[in-house]
Amino acid sequence: MDEIKIFSPASVANISCGFDVLGFCLGPVGDEMIIRKSDSSGVKIIKIEGQELPLDVKKNVAGVAAEALLNELKTERGFEIEIYKNIKAGSGIGSSAASAAGAVFGINELLNKPFTAHELINFAMEGEGLASGSVHADNVAPVLLGGITLVRTTDPIDVVQLPTPKELTAVIMHPKIELKTVHAREIIKKNVTMEKAIQQWGNLGAFVSALYDEDYDLMSRSLKDEIVEPMRSLLIPEFESLKKASKDVGALGFGISGSGPSVYALTKGVDTAEKVYEAINEIISSIGIDFEIYISKINQQGIKILPD
Ligand code: ADP
Repeated sequence: MDEIKIFSPASVANISCGFDVLGFCLGPVGDEMIIRKSDSSGVKIIKIEGQELPLDVKKNVAGVAAEALLNELKTERGFEIEIYKNIKAGSGIGSSAASAAGAVFGINELLNKPFTAHELINFAMEGEGLASGSVHADNVAPVLLGGITLVRTTDPIDVVQLPTPKELTAVIMHPKIELKTVHAREIIKKNVTMEKAIQQWGNLGAFVSALYDEDYDLMSRSLKDEIVEPMRSLLIPEFESLKKASKDVGALGFGISGSGPSVYALTKGVDTAEKVYEAINEIISSIGIDFEIYISKINQQGIKILPD
């Protein structure tokens, strides 16, 4: 195989109680990439469509991630990358993660898989470091592994794949204002009180347990974030009213997707997701900003190879 075409999906990181550790993979939205072997060594990004992003491999997360993989192999092999962006950069649904994960997934396939999906997280994470100023794997892990993941630690990388309850459904709303991860990180206070820390790890542990038991009531009680959300939600238009309206029609939880400005709700079943969609749509339509909403099951497969 000399060339591969892939679909690299969007993802939701943090999931309220799991700041910087939890993430899940989305279905319908994602970037496409074509990766092919080339005669010259190293990585070249030869085309990006859909968005203004740097072709320079040192400034594009796909290039940084791909080079990290090739450096580890100490190979002279070369690859060309084409990126067709559908996920807007800075939207909070893992735009940079899709490119970073896509690059390493595609190259790994073309090299006959020297690395496992878990190992690829290391390289994709280096790409993410370029976008956000700090290395994190909570978007690239669910994209590469599929489903819902928990990053226990990034040094060394240790990721746990969690079960996906059958009826779990996500609603995502992306208000079209740009919020860069670096800026969203700046407003987070560096210290957490013992009281808040206890709440958060109680909720995180309970949420993970609820996923194993398909206990939707426990999911609902534990999808909370009193550490980061109070600060970051100030940057998102109508956050509190969107949250209240979603919970009123039955959402299990509602919070910020990644570093925002996108928000997510989780529901039991598609019917409730449709009610949440309507509730969000009504509020956000009334304030006159451009936005997108969609409903997605949790994508169990993650990144995938497309037919030619
Ligand atoms: P998101 O959560 O949507 O990925 P980030 O703020 O984490 O948003 O990442 C977007 C930043 O990464 C932007 O500054 C963008 O220019 C940079 N970037 C570099 N390469 C890419 C790429 N291939 N795809 C998306 N963003 C990229």
